[in-house]
Amino acid sequence: MEKVKLLGSTLDELSGYVTGWGMPSYTAKQIAQWIYKRHANDFNIMTDISEKNRRFLAQQSEIGWYHPIEVVESIDGTKKYLFKAGANRFIESVYIPEEDRSTLCVSSQAGCRMGCKFCLTGKQGFNGHLTATDIINQIRSIPERDKLTNLVFMGMGEPLDNFEELKKSLEILTSSYGFGWSPKRITVSTVGIIPTMIRFLNESKCHLAISLHSPFHEERLKLMPVEKAYPIEQVVKELKKFDFNQQRRLSFEYIMLKGINDTSRHVKGLVRLLNGLNCRINLIRYHAIPGEEWQTSDDSAILSFQKQLKDKGIITTLRASRGQDIWAACGMLSTDALLKS
Ligand code: SF4
Repeated sequence: MEKVKLLGSTLDELSGYVTGWGMPSYTAKQIAQWIYKRHANDFNIMTDISEKNRRFLAQQSEIGWYHPIEVVESIDGTKKYLFKAGANRFIESVYIPEEDRSTLCVSSQAGCRMGCKFCLTGKQGFNGHLTATDIINQIRSIPERDKLTNLVFMGMGEPLDNFEELKKSLEILTSSYGFGWSPKRITVSTVGIIPTMIRFLNESKCHLAISLHSPFHEERLKLMPVEKAYPIEQVVKELKKFDFNQQRRLSFEYIMLKGINDTSRHVKGLVRLLNGLNCRINLIRYHAIPGEEWQTSDDSAILSFQKQLKDKGIITTLRASRGQDIWAACGMLSTDALLKS
């Protein structure tokens, strides 16, 4: 019989397990404290639970955390962790230390079925949803866990395509029984799957980022097949029904592709599309991936693009390229592991 994995379980789920095993319901809170606050890796140290119940817990369940199988460190301190989340399922998390913050980029799926053309994970195809155990474990198991100030769900996979496990993970991360993080420290990035995006906005307080990459339907469609089912115009129309501010930020991710989406025409398109939305645009340099000819826009084109947006009142940030020397593009390490497995 497969043991229940406790890491990644909500308090309600833990309550259901322990009462089903004949233990008092408060044992659930004790377990949550041990696994989410004290990061226990052994039932024996849970000394506020009776020895008999600890033995029973160990028979029925496991904590469920596991180590990364590989770590690659960049000269700039960025670290890419590789995890094996099941047979032939490799996922990546990227730790990005900066002067005033330390961010972990978390994966939500093994591979991805969104098929964005500029993304190596998209080319890998879909290898399954991650469970909340696999998602929480990425944070739980890295040595920098206690230094983390921010989490971004921008690793492998489309988080809103795995909504239930994402939601459980966000509950565990932000609840007082769990990690106790402020939702303002967490950003979820999506290509814009409208039904689950609306659920996310209604059911969570975390920040939202939308992968945009072109304001024009036909051009975005060439980059992102999801544009067919959920056109960006519709996505933005839905977003305009919600309030965004410092408490809950809305940002748009925009990969700068030379000669593809970096012209004044695109600036005008963005200004028109985002008119009336309180948001910012994050400009991102493109990391080349095998089999695609695209190049990142020149620095001068990026700065000019940024200035034109700023002149129109749109706040932009230009993300520094990090970890270029360690295959920084999402999906590279796991693709390599998959090919070798
Ligand atoms: S960019 Fe994100 S949503 Fe698109 S294929 Fe890659 S992982 Fe999936």
